[in-house]
Amino acid sequence: MARIVVLGSLNIDLVVTVPRLPQPGETVLGERLGSFPGGKGANQAVAAARLGGQVAIVGRVGGDSFGAELIENLESNGVDASHVARDPAQPTGAALIYVEHGGHNMIAVAPGANATVGPHDAERAVAMLGPGDLLVMQLEIPFAVVEQATLAARRAGAMVLLNAAPAQRLKPELLAQLDALVINEREATALGDLEDPSAAAAALRTMGAKVVIVTLGPAGSLFCDDAGVHRVEPFAVKSVDSTGAGDAFVGALAVGLAAKLPSEAAIRFANAAGAAATCSLGAQAALPRLDDLRRLFGLHVPSLEA
Ligand code: ADP
Repeated sequence: MARIVVLGSLNIDLVVTVPRLPQPGETVLGERLGSFPGGKGANQAVAAARLGGQVAIVGRVGGDSFGAELIENLESNGVDASHVARDPAQPTGAALIYVEHGGHNMIAVAPGANATVGPHDAERAVAMLGPGDLLVMQLEIPFAVVEQATLAARRAGAMVLLNAAPAQRLKPELLAQLDALVINEREATALGDLEDPSAAAAALRTMGAKVVIVTLGPAGSLFCDDAGVHRVEPFAVKSVDSTGAGDAFVGALAVGLAAKLPSEAAIRFANAAGAAATCSLGAQAALPRLDDLRRLFGLHVPSLEA
């Protein structure tokens, strides 16, 4: 199978459950502090590795103990983290999360070392890619690095999958270089200036990406390629927590593309992974393995089971 290289963010998620979200100036007593590995880059790398991908991640953490914890977690999930740089001058990226009983949350992210990902990191990521391999990125690292890595990866003959989250305007020159663009419904309308996700996908596709994929939560997903817009039906689940569904989707899609599945089959596989990720609590903790997809949905992908 082709190699998957993720160039992206690594965060520690610090979570406290509170009876209600604090008002400005107010202190609320919460429950025990939880710390969990996160960041879209790391989540997607773990998602892909758990589903059988051959995955490496390039990114930056601080010299603090969180950084060491994140690297250890990636390695224990089968991700090659030898290209994650530890910078003693920076703190590790952190997300501070309050979760209210009942589900509402408040999140502030301190990007820390993720904000210092630079041209040298893009070069290190692209150096690992050969023809047919896949570069996977999100927008939690500086945009200029994403642009640089996209162009260099294409020159190396690799495919590029961009998950444009959090949403940011994308230049047509960047879109034209993408093999796949993944966004959720909110991001689709923000980027495509249209209320209807199908129309937004079609508009983004005419700007150049080969395939534009919009995830639709419990409604599955849709994609637009040169033959038009197609719906891909969801897998029915008893969903308990949708955190991480989008990252499971992107990780699985990366595995499907690296295994050279046709777009529709790769997206169906990604729908299954996204649905499975909603069946238990947490982001990375809920990311499924191939066994889970077999057990939950009877899903078999022969090219991934060799
Ligand atoms: P994000 O977390 O980025 O907003 P979505 O909520 O759209 O992403 O979820 C990503 C994918 O996960 C969806 O395209 C869908 O296939 C799957 N998914 C998410 N929630 C559910 C659900 N409740 N039931 C079935 N599938 C789901």
